[in-house]
Amino acid sequence: MRIAIYPGSFDPVTYGHIDIIERASKICDKLIVGVLMNSSKSPLFSVEERVNMLNEVIQHIDNVEVCSFSGLLVDFAKEMDANIIVRGLRAITDFEYEFQMAHANHILNSEIDTVFLTTNIDYSYLSSSTVKEVAGFGGDISQFVPDVIAKKVYNKYS
Ligand code: ADP
Repeated sequence: MRIAIYPGSFDPVTYGHIDIIERASKICDKLIVGVLMNSSKSPLFSVEERVNMLNEVIQHIDNVEVCSFSGLLVDFAKEMDANIIVRGLRAITDFEYEFQMAHANHILNSEIDTVFLTTNIDYSYLSSSTVKEVAGFGGDISQFVPDVIAKKVYNKYS
């Protein structure tokens, strides 16, 4: 069984993430979306909230599971029996960091490979930070995230 992990902060999940999840789920038997608990960042949403939001927007895909994790990604992958890491690539700016991480992870565990999916051109500009910045100023985020997520984001700023 081909198990892949799509890790990230998902603070909050955007249409860009959902597009990667939909496409990645088609090239593996099981896709685990790994929500990173990162104590050095101060996210807008708690890890439980981020897991719940993801679960709400991926209901239409059968072979996807959402889990939280902390620590090294390669350790989490091993725990989950996954040997593929999926990452989305938006622009050249993503590339350098992703290139370093992919190599570092492969050196830490040579059985694990990283697969990159290029962004859907419609979402190439989109990041969770953009969503928060626009929502923080009361702007319209309906093109960036599903309605259920938009409501939760606005609630945080009200
Ligand atoms: P962000 O960079 O938006 O805070 P994450 O850290 O949660 O997002 O990113 C998780 C993964 O999703 C990364 O591989 C990132 O490159 C990818 N990703 C984020 N936004 C998009 C997008 N709009 N299109 C494609 N991939 C994306």
